[in-house]
Amino acid sequence: MDPSDIGPNVGDNTSELRIITWPAEQLPIPAVSVGPARLAGDGFIEVWLPWNSSEERRVVVPDELYLRALMTLSLDDSTAILEFAAAYGTVIVPSLAKVLSAAQGRPDPETEDVERLRERESEMHLSTIEHAKVCMESTFAGVRAAPPNQQESLLDAVERIGMISPRLTCHVDEFRWSVQLLRDMVRIWLANQGSLTFADVREQWESPVRPAGTSSGSWPSREACARILAVGLNQGLDRVRARIGLVDVDGMPDPAVEKDYEQPDLFSVLCLQFTNHIAENARYWRCQNKNCGRWFVRQSERAAVGQYRRKGVKYCSKRCAKAVAQRRWQERNPRGKRGAGDEGSS
Ligand SMILES: [Zn+2]
Repeated sequence: MDPSDIGPNVGDNTSELRIITWPAEQLPIPAVSVGPARLAGDGFIEVWLPWNSSEERRVVVPDELYLRALMTLSLDDSTAILEFAAAYGTVIVPSLAKVLSAAQGRPDPETEDVERLRERESEMHLSTIEHAKVCMESTFAGVRAAPPNQQESLLDAVERIGMISPRLTCHVDEFRWSVQLLRDMVRIWLANQGSLTFADVREQWESPVRPAGTSSGSWPSREACARILAVGLNQGLDRVRARIGLVDVDGMPDPAVEKDYEQPDLFSVLCLQFTNHIAENARYWRCQNKNCGRWFVRQSERAAVGQYRRKGVKYCSKRCAKAVAQRRWQERNPRGKRGAGDEGSS
């Protein structure tokens, strides 16, 4: 089958449900607030933000982050997770239980699996809020305990450094579940596009969006796949809706209006990147460098010349293309290989 024949609107590739996007155009990717991140002893990824939102560090995430970095992120490695969170932020799905409920066709009453997942999630959310509260209390207790002549400068310091953001802080397990769900969703779409099979999706299923007792290979059905993709993405897209902002003469946001608006978080931005690819019916490639194997849509570093090559792209980046060319050259020129080895050991 010619892969170009497979699109989001082609018949029964994902059950009888067709995937459509509104709007059909691609949308610009908003910046996200990124603060210093730290892994606390009790497993929370603490994210710190300054008091004043105009001083927040705004980061535009790299293209295809949901695909390139997220699919290969090692979730067993807390250091790798922390590095990712410090660079781009934490990934938090608002409700995995909602996704599971939709996958099961939203039965009323809800299944025990959904209830159990909802309970686990709300415990996690509550403990995050509690964690942030304890941190805040201990900071202010420190200020109160200081000699009066130092209190003011300490408060200044707190204001500069900021506070734990309960919205961006999460438990490392919550981060893992959220990334796992996004990866499951990407594989669902890859299967819908013919780049993977639905058997691959089931075998590689990672997230806790799965009823108890289902064996590997039996979950989810194609219909459940389509619903997981839709409900998962919509939870992120909820926060990147169109809006009106107000700024003063200095360009500072009007706090009276800003307060109602929840800034897009990283999960929302990743969902938007993903949805943009769905909207354009992007063709996915897998890097042919055997040491890489990343999924990608456009070869990176080509954007610099203003042109993307979309047909017959073998490597995710020029770096991978170069690495393979070099390896081949070395295989053909054993003498050159020895030379390179000598260089490496010096
Ligand atoms: Zn590559």
